[in-house]
Amino acid sequence: MALNTRNPRYDWEFYTEPQVHVQNRKIQSSRGKGLGGSSMQNFLAFGENLCPINLSADVAKDFAVVPDPSSHGMNGPIVVSFPPYVSPIHKDTLDSLDGLGLLRNSESICIYFFGYILYYFLTFLQPFLVQQSAGRNVGSLLVPTAVDPKTATRSYSASAYLAPNVERNNLLVLTEAFVLKVRFEKQENNLHRAEAVDLVVDDEQLSVEANKEIILCAGTFQAPQLLEVSGIGNRDLLSNLSIECLIDLPGVGENLQDHMLSPIVVQIDQNMLTVESLRDPEQLKLQQELYDTANVKRWAASATIEASSPEAFVKTPPSALNGIKKQYEIMRTWIDSIHPLGQLLNLNGLFPVLGFIPDPSKRYMTMLAAYIHPLSRGTVHITSKDAQVPPAIQPNYLANPADLDILCKTVKFAYKVTRYVQETMLTVHHPVGAASMMPREDGGVIDPSLLVYGTSNLRVVDCSIIPLEISCNIQTLAYAIGEKAADIIKQTA
Ligand SMILES: Cc1cc2nc3c(=O)[nH]c(=O)nc-3n(C[C@H](O)[C@H](O)[C@H](O)COP(=O)(O)OP(=O)(O)OC[C@H]3O[C@@H](n4cnc5c(N)ncnc54)[C@H](O)[C@@H]3O)c2cc1C
Repeated sequence: MALNTRNPRYDWEFYTEPQVHVQNRKIQSSRGKGLGGSSMQNFLAFGENLCPINLSADVAKDFAVVPDPSSHGMNGPIVVSFPPYVSPIHKDTLDSLDGLGLLRNSESICIYFFGYILYYFLTFLQPFLVQQSAGRNVGSLLVPTAVDPKTATRSYSASAYLAPNVERNNLLVLTEAFVLKVRFEKQENNLHRAEAVDLVVDDEQLSVEANKEIILCAGTFQAPQLLEVSGIGNRDLLSNLSIECLIDLPGVGENLQDHMLSPIVVQIDQNMLTVESLRDPEQLKLQQELYDTANVKRWAASATIEASSPEAFVKTPPSALNGIKKQYEIMRTWIDSIHPLGQLLNLNGLFPVLGFIPDPSKRYMTMLAAYIHPLSRGTVHITSKDAQVPPAIQPNYLANPADLDILCKTVKFAYKVTRYVQETMLTVHHPVGAASMMPREDGGVIDPSLLVYGTSNLRVVDCSIIPLEISCNIQTLAYAIGEKAADIIKQTA
């Protein structure tokens, strides 16, 4: 992970515009560059029950996991597992939380970073902790990882979906290719047909023509960027950049939402194994050996699962505001004791925190206090006709004071300091919403069949279409969107 994130070879390394509510800081926003996109660099936490899980008896005992097989898929391309080593820090932390009345979610547990992060969610009114699982989001738990335990390697979209199909003769994958724009022709029915994609490969500009459809999967920051440079978006914004507006769709690049977090570092027992312990080659080898075949067989044998009003805080064109108003109505119903609004992630190791200089001879753990249902809404828009110029990412973090309030409550639960949030807040890297699936009159960009309004054959298939942030990690939803899109496209064909 560390090798992938913030490495310009694999990471687009975006920065937001200065965030006025977090001391004008520009927040670093990673996005995967390469086959598999961000699934190639994410932190592996598999937060939903879309795929199978292997569970060791020890983990089940320590974390009181009694999974309901009816809520878990039995098979699927992505392999999900629990790690063979779970630090005692996680059990101790969950035990302490038990003592505070924050009970384990008996349905499942979650882990992250090869078993180094423990994870729980926090409700707003009722104190606290909670996570998803079979739709029951309240309780503490350990997150499964998208790791194939047989090979101890990342299971992600390139390994799971592309690799098994790469020999197909109707599939051509161009790597190192950068899409510049989509070109359209106007049809008699007034819809626009996407006819070709312009791209650069090795400094050479190419054009690829579509027989049937063009599917855009450029992610929450770059899908709206490609729509705008191609002439789909807010007419005024496009005309300011001398781009001919083919389809006036003011919702493009609006309604941007993201999960935010604030880290709290705590010094722990010197003898604990933490992420930093892996710098020792012997420890690294030991941990890798835990994933050996014998262990996997033992696991399999013991597996128990076979199986307020937005206008004040949102600067958005009036025509794109309707959808956000409707989202606020939905979110009002979430302020109760059942729906989690916050999340604590327990990292068994040091998470870099601005201004904190760690002592390399000491061991640390970090609690990441995150806010999962933001009321603030932002934008991602182009500043140039050229798709190679990064878009202006304006998530408007903490613009709605309720977000700061809830994040502070989450932080206070573990650490009683308020100003800390503004100084240290970072992204969880879960941006969604900038090409939302909503009615056009509400500021939506795509319809329920994933078609961009006003086009006959351009679909968007990535996390930018999620209109409202969900209460857990979002990679599972990215896969679900891809699977659903495949069904829709097959049906259409
Ligand atoms: C550092 C990090 C950690 C995360 N950790 C977790 C986690 O632990 N659990 C979890 O559930 N989620 C996590 N996520 C979130 C999750 O991985 C992403 O939300 C999800 O992968 C997004 O899928 P997507 O298809 O929308 O976009 P992406 O996966 O980002 O795919 C977009 C693709 O489009 C390509 N692209 C963009 N523009 C162009 C262009 N002009 N030309 C050619 N190609 C282009 C990109 O290179 C990329 O390959 C994390 C994300 C990051 C960045």
